[in-house]
Amino acid sequence: MRQELIKDDRVVQEVKKAIGETLNIDAVSISADHSLIKDLGAESLDFLDINYRLEQAFGIKMARHFILEHIEEMFGEGAAIDPNGQLTEKAVKIMKLRLGENSAALEPGMDMDQVPAMITVATMARGVMDILDSLPVKCANCGASSWKSEDGTHVVCSACSEEAPYMDGDDLIREWLTSAQESHGIF
Ligand SMILES: [Zn+2]
Repeated sequence: MRQELIKDDRVVQEVKKAIGETLNIDAVSISADHSLIKDLGAESLDFLDINYRLEQAFGIKMARHFILEHIEEMFGEGAAIDPNGQLTEKAVKIMKLRLGENSAALEPGMDMDQVPAMITVATMARGVMDILDSLPVKCANCGASSWKSEDGTHVVCSACSEEAPYMDGDDLIREWLTSAQESHGIF
């Protein structure tokens, strides 16, 4: 469900903080449209660190695999990336559905190595928000349907204090790909 307990602004703020701490830069100088790689100088290993900080901050599990890897795993080798290491038309089609306005630069034939540079502060925040929105209506522990957040980042059940059981980031991508495939029949 679309949760309202953790505000979008707070998510963006925490993403900037995690990036700032990992890369040793002042969070105030980071803006939402900055590419982590191109503008902020992040390397692949930094993503693990940033993800870890976000997992601690919100009590979530970030995706370990990029959407392209999930497409290959679900729809077969070559579904997302052709033998030359370039994005397929189908991969671009489904990624545009997922990323919306953030995906204007994606085109078929683009080298897959160029894709990570498209990850911005806003895309990371979107990823966190998607996971937070997987909050179920009811608490599986006690059946109550009332969640609360005292610190603006962690959600617990108002009745039994059970921690919010969010979906794992990778499961969320897989679930999304399955339903996108069902409605659009791309692969
Ligand atoms: Zn409960």
